[in-house]
Amino acid sequence: MLFSQLSLNDSLLKALPLSITQPSRIQQLAIPAILSGQDVLALAQTGSGKTYAYGLPMLQRISQQHNLGCSAVVVVPTRELAAQVMQNLTPLASALDLQVDVVCGAEAIELQMERLSKPAHVIVATPGRLLALIQQGIIACHHVNCMVLDEADRLLDMGFINDINAIITALPAGQRLLFSATMPSALNELAAQLLSTKSLRIE
Ligand code: AMP
Repeated sequence: MLFSQLSLNDSLLKALPLSITQPSRIQQLAIPAILSGQDVLALAQTGSGKTYAYGLPMLQRISQQHNLGCSAVVVVPTRELAAQVMQNLTPLASALDLQVDVVCGAEAIELQMERLSKPAHVIVATPGRLLALIQQGIIACHHVNCMVLDEADRLLDMGFINDINAIITALPAGQRLLFSATMPSALNELAAQLLSTKSLRIE
């Protein structure tokens, strides 16, 4: 299968690194489902191509919505992963004239508040800082209609479940995408609570 068979925008595909020619298994399965608005639960190791599997269709949907504010949040367990996701998504977002920003606990909150006065369409964040910025009204989330939990098993291992539940409560209803290397029972419980009954499960 080719990327061109996945109903993705040409400018988005041109922004992919040249080394990426064929969609991986998870990309083949997840991209059409996410483009159609479905919730997805995907068992995906690092290296499976999971970032593009959610990033490409998420950005394409946002570009079709013409929202001015933040439209999607990608919640990750560590700032290293946040930087990696940001690096992967930024060229794709630029191709669609969208902005991506990253907020992590390590950076001074005042700097982030200043930057967020002009909100990005996608915010990649660690849970504690994202929640703080939502609670302080710095991130306005009334247009957020997509939430991704990336490396969801690590988010739970690291004790972020209360922050995640609070973020979920603060966000409007919308598409929910859950990517995880393993499926511990706590994650099954979260998935049952979070995902629509019509969600696609990719194993
Ligand atoms: P990820 O699983 O998102 O952490 O991606 C791991 C690595 O695989 C990254 O360096 C990506 O650039 C690369 N990658 C993602 N999708 C593909 C693909 N379809 N073909 C080749 N490499 C890919």
